[in-house]
Amino acid sequence: MNINSKDVEQIVKQVLQEMKGASAAPKAASTGIPAKSRVAMLTALEHYEIKEFPIPELGDDDILVKVEGCGVCGTDAHEFKRDPFGLIPVVLGHEGTGEIVKMGKNVKKDSAGKPLNIGDKVVTCMIFSDDPDITMFDLNKQNVGAADVYGLLPDDDIHLNGWFADYMVIRGGSTVFNVSDLGLDERILIEPCAVLIHAVERAKTTGILRFNSRVVVQGCGPIGLICIAILRTMGIENIVAVDGEEKRLNFAKEMGATASVNFKNYKGAEELAGGVKDAFGGYLADFAFQCTGSPVAHANIYKFIRKGGGLCELGFFINGGDATINPHFDICSKEITTVGSWVYTLRDYATTFDFLKRAKGIGLPLEKLITHKFPLSQINEAHVTNLKMEGLKIAIINE
Ligand SMILES: [Zn+2]
Repeated sequence: MNINSKDVEQIVKQVLQEMKGASAAPKAASTGIPAKSRVAMLTALEHYEIKEFPIPELGDDDILVKVEGCGVCGTDAHEFKRDPFGLIPVVLGHEGTGEIVKMGKNVKKDSAGKPLNIGDKVVTCMIFSDDPDITMFDLNKQNVGAADVYGLLPDDDIHLNGWFADYMVIRGGSTVFNVSDLGLDERILIEPCAVLIHAVERAKTTGILRFNSRVVVQGCGPIGLICIAILRTMGIENIVAVDGEEKRLNFAKEMGATASVNFKNYKGAEELAGGVKDAFGGYLADFAFQCTGSPVAHANIYKFIRKGGGLCELGFFINGGDATINPHFDICSKEITTVGSWVYTLRDYATTFDFLKRAKGIGLPLEKLITHKFPLSQINEAHVTNLKMEGLKIAIINE
């Protein structure tokens, strides 16, 4: 190579020019990141507005994610209808995933110790407000305690804190996982699946859930269906699904249920319990998962369980009212072991990634859980569709 002094002068001039240009223009322009991001902000009950906010400078521990998609959750439906958490105005969306497009200089690894790089696909989990040392490896931690989640945070001056958006800023101190080895649909399903991984872990503490257990799953919305899929990936063969919708019951079978019971065909809890018993070939269930938010369903489920059996109640993420049971018949005289389950731990999150691979491996059609996909601009329609309960999982997929 032969560079004369005139060329060098020219090159130096050009480099200096570029440096000047780069520092004068917003940093984002040189990396293809826009100056602003759209967010879907819930500004009133049943009303999202698409707003634009500047993408801020990142701190040394922050990550900027280009959002690819986000599931619409039951919690979003509650917020949309009633704002029970008093968050309006709020950028919702907590079942999201996207690609790292920029990160602070201190960011090297995810919460499980996996390296993080530009281009990696990530999901977030909890942000611990009280104790940042609650680790995913704390087996004794039953649930998450005081923690925040992106998509359910009060609005702040950055605004990019929910997944119903084009970009989101994951701030230092959050939990983030590199899930580049999972597809978009699978990544959107991580959060709801973690709820069930936790529930099954809770169920296992009873010592009643075994390979040859007869297990009844009541409620075949996304939560019940994922429950069935997890039981199948664990090698549990004998699963009866209970629901009132034939379509959902058929899907339950695709997810691995061996038989189904439509409660609409029975009058009263005793008769329904007879239906469950018939579905198991003349036996009551060894173990039951209650996956509906209906107090009547909670009261009924004890009748499906054999003496010495177990129950995991996970249907009441929020207060759904009181249920009436008979403590003598339903619990004491049958010596039923009951556990409650709520949300998940970080450890459950990591387990969920493996579950999703196993489910795919044995051919369970988990991706069929996502029945409707909407662009961000149609987020109001997405929520209305969700409220109609026509589909299973509704997702926002960024165009
Ligand atoms: Zn959720």
